Amino acid sequence: EKKHKVTVIGSGNWGSTISKIIAENTREYPDIFDEDVQMWVYEEEVTVPESSPHYTPELGEKPQKLTTLINKYHENVKYLPGIALPKNVIANPSAADAADGSTILIFNLPHQFIGNVCKQLQGHILPYARGISCIKGVNVSDKGVSLFSEWIGDSLGIYCGALSGANIAPEIAAEKWSETTIAYDPPPLDHSRVPSPQSGSPTASSADLTVTPVNGATFHHIDSRGRKSKTKLTPVPAEYPPLDHETFKTLFHRPYFHVRMVSDVAGVSLSGALKNIVALAAGFVDGKGWGDNAKAAIMRVGLLEMVKFGKEFFGETVHTGTFTEESAGVADLITSCSGGRNFRCAKKAVEQGVSVEDVEQMDLNGQKLQGTSTAREVNAFLKTKGKEEDYPLFTAVLGILDGKYKVDDIPELVARADS
Ligand code: NAD
Ligand code: 13P
Repeated sequence: EKKHKVTVIGSGNWGSTISKIIAENTREYPDIFDEDVQMWVYEEEVTVPESSPHYTPELGEKPQKLTTLINKYHENVKYLPGIALPKNVIANPSAADAADGSTILIFNLPHQFIGNVCKQLQGHILPYARGISCIKGVNVSDKGVSLFSEWIGDSLGIYCGALSGANIAPEIAAEKWSETTIAYDPPPLDHSRVPSPQSGSPTASSADLTVTPVNGATFHHIDSRGRKSKTKLTPVPAEYPPLDHETFKTLFHRPYFHVRMVSDVAGVSLSGALKNIVALAAGFVDGKGWGDNAKAAIMRVGLLEMVKFGKEFFGETVHTGTFTEESAGVADLITSCSGGRNFRCAKKAVEQGVSVEDVEQMDLNGQKLQGTSTAREVNAFLKTKGKEEDYPLFTAVLGILDGKYKVDDIPELVARADS
């Protein structure tokens, strides 16, 4: 049997943490996976910070390529300092080279950069590769709103699922216990072991679609919204272990990182994206010193808007339970509104009377917020639909970012929608 080669596209705070998790598992399961994990790194020149165990005054002064430092010291000194990466994580500055020959592609980078990276990958990946998107954001264009898993799938001609959860990266990198949710609705020809359907899920599963292409033929499948996919997929050859729920769980599950597999790709992707808008609102009210009751009110209203958005624009394929029962839903909302970067930056912005973007620049050392751009993108979409008033919290967050509203306006704006 052939083994799966795994590439992680992205190497930020979460990208590096996921690479660590995966590399521990490829080492532990050598019958299924190649040991080496390629990690695509957006190349830049960096110096080693004092917080790194490899710091010397010389390394602290002389900038070097980030890939060189990662491969020499097995540490991402800029985006995940102080954490030892397994030696089988190989940093690679070329996306096309990193993905060469890989059957599993893990997409883990700030959502604003994915378009450019996909262009670099086009024509360089295996036709039967499969993806998992760990990106928290939605893709808004003049055609409407779509998931990054769909967008990656369509632009690369592959099937792509999604991973999202209550997953503040530095805690997981330090091997503190957490849960995550992986949504994967495998095309029927990729597996011999059919996953058990999510209980109560109204989502049509691609496993329900019977297709029997002859060897080498491509086929359509049912996508995350229950539609026949635009993309024609190439089946994963039978010499490989099946790419199903069991294999993906094996790749991601660790004693400190517990994976729950589901089929609702849209619900997992949307909750991960939309909670970032709510986390900004939680930061705004906390920055005002309004206390835990106010923050809980933000989470309640935010969760309702998240579910409403999913149901309204992604139809009946979205499973409400994904928002209310999974790590990707309510648990991520809670952790993000407690200690996430969007929350922390929004809180500090209110405390210091500066913009969220200013705090991002000053405090995050190159890490990127997703909530500010997602608030703009989601609200631009709602505006085209004439639906801004139906989502008062999402609308209030954009208004505050743009200086149209004050944090003091939030209670009234939210109450108006209730009346
Ligand atoms: P990050 O915030 O650490 O972002 C920085 C990354 O962007 C670096 O790898 C940097 O090299 C890269 N970058 C900068 N400019 C670029 C460019 N022009 N082109 C391509 N890449 C460029 O990233 P992250 O925390 O790994 O976030 C990736 C995704 O994971 C996001 O969607 C985020 O919401 C999600 N996520 C993050 C966390 C977390 O705690 N950090 C947890 C769960 C999910
Ligand atoms: P931030 O990007 O706000 O840090 O959120 C991290 C996250 O997604 C936790 O699950």
